[in-house]
Amino acid sequence: MTDYILETKNLTKTYGDKQAIDQISIQIKRGAIYGLIGRNGAGKTTLLKIISGLAFQTDGEVLLFGEKTAKTSNLLERVGVLIEAPGLYPNLTAYENVRLKCIAYGINREGYITSLLEQVGLDYTGEKKTRHFSLGMKQRLAIALALVGEPDLLLLDEPANGLDPQGIIEIREVLLKLSKEQNITIIISSHILEELAKIVTRIGIIDEGKLLEEIDKDELLEKTKDKIEIKTGDVEKTIVVLEEQFGIEKLKVIDQETLYVYEKIEESGAMNKALVNAGIIIHSLAINRESLEDYFIDLTGGGSHV
Ligand code: ATP
Repeated sequence: MTDYILETKNLTKTYGDKQAIDQISIQIKRGAIYGLIGRNGAGKTTLLKIISGLAFQTDGEVLLFGEKTAKTSNLLERVGVLIEAPGLYPNLTAYENVRLKCIAYGINREGYITSLLEQVGLDYTGEKKTRHFSLGMKQRLAIALALVGEPDLLLLDEPANGLDPQGIIEIREVLLKLSKEQNITIIISSHILEELAKIVTRIGIIDEGKLLEEIDKDELLEKTKDKIEIKTGDVEKTIVVLEEQFGIEKLKVIDQETLYVYEKIEESGAMNKALVNAGIIIHSLAINRESLEDYFIDLTGGGSHV
């Protein structure tokens, strides 16, 4: 059996002469929380819509659970979707909103609705109508609706959009819990890398319809960690000086003239002096503090059309 819960192969969608997504090939492993990051208009919603069967590709393939999807595929029953407005009934309670969807799905199990509401932290809302809910509560209810039918894959398009910091934290906690306790695979889109990086295991960066990079979260954090970048004429001797004189242990050799030091950043001036005093030619020594957002902007070529 394939390891991938979702694969897209050269997925392409054109609207007139607009290439909304352009040959996107991604592979998402079971149990992952996969973040799709891109600016407004990058193609995130289009990609999620095609995966969930709400739109159809111009070219390319989608494989869900190792099988090709067709327009009427019953594989899509195993996918929970929250794309654009959640479509809640404002005059009904959280319980009643979920019950309607359960009826549509033919689910009539004792305690089922309450357990879904518990999973998103809304079991306390009682008789309160959803029109009186905060935006964060509405989004969590929308997630509960997407969970009806026990999907294996959950697709969430910008679920934190417009939420206050507390609302964002609540959504994050709900998703982490779902992933941990139920091993649901989640694909979540956002235009804020900082926010995505707090929950995802892997990230796909898209811009102007193209997949620019896929990277594991740990690798991304490693790349964007504060560090001193040293370009030196003698890597080995440089390491000896850094170890002996500064007790440096966290360093990485990048190539035959470059190394990164991940600790004692504030001592960079003293390190430079010590290295030069040891007779080593230092071509450059600079502190590199690249934030996640800087990384994203560098990759997508600036923020001019945010
Ligand atoms: P946002 O966060 O703003 O929704 P996005 O990354 O989700 O951005 P998409 O909504 O997928 O981007 O849009 C990608 C491109 O396709 C945009 O240029 C958009 O204008 C275009 N597009 C999307 N849907 C349609 C449509 N139904 N008809 C024509 N063009 C469309």
